[in-house]
Order: sequence, then C-alpha cells, then structure tokens
Amino acid sequence: MSRAISLEEENKELRRMLTIMRQKAYHNDQLLHSFFEAKLKLMSSTTLAELVSYLLNDFRRDFKLSSLTLMLLDPEDIVRDLLQGYEVNSTESELHLLKSQGPLNELFPDLTYFCGEPSETIRTFCFPHTVTIQSCVLLPLIQDNCLIGSLNLGSHDQLRYSQFLSYDYVMYLASVLSTCVEICISRETLVRLSSIDSLTTTANRRSFNEHLSREINRCQRSNEPFVCMMLDIDHFKSINDRFGHLSGDQVLRAVAHLLKEKRRILDCVARYGGEEFALLLPSCSLDTGLRLAEELRRTISETPFYGQEGESIQVTCSIGLTVCDPKHPQYYRDVEKLKSNLISSADQALYRSKHNGRNCVHHQPCPMLISP
Ligand code: GH3
Ligand code: MG
Ligand code: MG
Repeated sequence: MSRAISLEEENKELRRMLTIMRQKAYHNDQLLHSFFEAKLKLMSSTTLAELVSYLLNDFRRDFKLSSLTLMLLDPEDIVRDLLQGYEVNSTESELHLLKSQGPLNELFPDLTYFCGEPSETIRTFCFPHTVTIQSCVLLPLIQDNCLIGSLNLGSHDQLRYSQFLSYDYVMYLASVLSTCVEICISRETLVRLSSIDSLTTTANRRSFNEHLSREINRCQRSNEPFVCMMLDIDHFKSINDRFGHLSGDQVLRAVAHLLKEKRRILDCVARYGGEEFALLLPSCSLDTGLRLAEELRRTISETPFYGQEGESIQVTCSIGLTVCDPKHPQYYRDVEKLKSNLISSADQALYRSKHNGRNCVHHQPCPMLISP
C-alpha cells in the first residue's frame, strides 16, 4: 500500500518537474525568438538614429529592462552630429557619448562582459538616472579589437543578472550591435560627404538638385506651389580683401547658420556656389515667398557678423526668387526642364537685385510655357 502511494507521489513529482521544464523550454524558446527579432531589427536599421531609437525604446520594453543605457565613443562629435535631436550626456539621458576610451577600458579591462550586482561606481556611471538598479549586464561593443562603446542592461531584480549564468546570446547581440553601429556611421558619413558642404554644413549643389526634384514631385502631388530662391552675399570679395579669407569663411558659416535656423520655413538650404545659397520654400506662394525673402534680407543686414579677430563685419545680400506653380495653365511635367528653368529664373531675378543696387529682393516668373 505504502509503495503504491510512493509511486503515485513520485509520478506527481515527475509531472510537476515536467511542467516546470516545459515552461522553461517555452520561456527559452520565447527568449531565443526575441533575440532573433532584435538581431533582425538591428540589422535592418539604416541610420544610427533608428538603431538608437530601437534600443532605447522597443528593445528595452521587449526585454522588460528597468534601465538601458548606451555609451558610444565619439571623440570627433561624429555620432553627436548624426544623432541631433537626442538628449546626450545629461543624468536623465540614456545615451552617453565619450570623448576618450579611458572609461570603457576601466569598465572592460579584459574586453569581456560584466554581470551581477553593480558597484556604486558602475551605478552612477552606467545608470545615473536609475541608481536603484540591483543587477546588470554591461556589454562591451568592440570593433577591430577596440572598444567603441557599451550597452548596459539594468534590472531592479537582484536575481535577473547573475555572475553564475552565461550570457552568450546577449554577448552575440552586442557583437551584432557593434557591427551595425559601425556600418550606420560609415554609411551616413559617406552620404554626408557626398551631399553636404564641408565649410557651411549646408546641403551642397548636388544635394540641392535632388531636393529640387523631390520638391517638384511633391508639388505635383499636392498641387501646391513652392518657391525657389537664390541668395548671394554682396561684395564678398571685398570682405575677403579687407578682413582676410579666414574671416570670409567665418562670415559664410555664420550666414549659413542663420539660414539653417529658418528650417521651419525653408525645406532646403544649400551652398550653391562660393558665396551663393539656394533655398526652397515648400507650400509657398509668390507673396509669402517675397515676404520671407525680404525678412531674410533684412535679418542678414541687421545681424552683426564677426571676423577672426572679433572685428565687426557688416553683411548684406541680394535675393532672387521664382515660383513653381502646378496650377499654372501651361504647367508641364518635365522635371529636368522645370528644374533648369526654375534655377535660371531665380538666377535672373538675383541678377536684377544686383543690378538694382544690391541688398534687395526681386522676382522673375518661371517660363512654364516651353514645349517638352
Ligand atoms: P557681388 O556683390 O557682385 O556678388 O560681389 P562679390 O564680391 O560678392 O562677388 P564676386 O563673384 O566678385 O566674388 C566672390 C568672392 O567670393 C570671390 C571668392 O574669392 C569668394 N569666395 C568664394 N568661395 C569662398 C570661400 O569658400 N571662402 C571665402 N573666404 N571666400 C570665397
Ligand atoms: Mg557675391
Ligand atoms: Mg556669387
């Protein structure tokens, strides 16, 4: 009788263990699935901003982390430029950009991950905004045998990350992340180099041409006009002659900065030539374009600019603009022809501003009636 009971109990115990193991297997299966998903998401990110946004939001939520911070080595502010709009390096931010490798070398002296209860130093350095973290895993991001960052996962659960468990999968994910970070930075840098003017960091002429094509397509879809504007600094040669070429460069950068600050109304600011900028104003009529151009002209003439030695330099500019109006009765859909007509019309208007004494705005209608 007692043997029968013990068999029954043994059976019950075996069933209980089986249920636990099944649950564990299910959990591991889910975890593995989440890792594969995460890997795919990382690999399909086309920009660094997309990658970082995924980690700080979806990844953190999917893996139920109490805290996640990302540190990236960024001695030349390349990452900072690519991630404009992200809050970095404050105690609240989850993204930290490091000027030197020193702190990473201290975190990962033998280039391998750390897991377990964080020391006070780790808490304040890696999780400054969640100092109540009880366990964590710090993953080194390594590229070409060099530390390029750290992905820090923190939990309020003391048992979640233990030094007695192995984190091969997370480590694998960290190596995927390192490669993805490098690829995104290289890809975006390449795009930037080919589309951005290095002196002013505005779009270059090539990129302006692409923007113009896009704007034409957009205006055809929305049936709304847009304005194409050319802005040329007056007597810039004499600014160079009087204050030196470097001061001239500084003025160019400052004018570009001022134009870029108008991003709300300008869709594209491009350096079209030496001291000439091309601008696009989407969904903009002739009247609004003329008013905004006048505002820009006045702002530039009233803004104090400074040379290399801090010397004050007065700058004025001449502006020419034209309108692309898809509602025009003779509007034609040849994008290339339209582009060259828009640019040459804005140029002619600019020439009239120069001819009429500079520091003024003129408009030239774009010839729509040219048979394709
Ligand atoms: P205007 O009012 O007719 O436009 O006269 P301007 O002197 O501005 O025009 P001009 O075409 O005679 O001279 C343009 C000058 O811009 C000459 C050139 O040396 C200078 N320039 C072009 N690119 C740069 C640059 O990258 N840096 C500096 N400092 N000067 C530049
Ligand atoms: Mg000029
Ligand atoms: Mg010029």
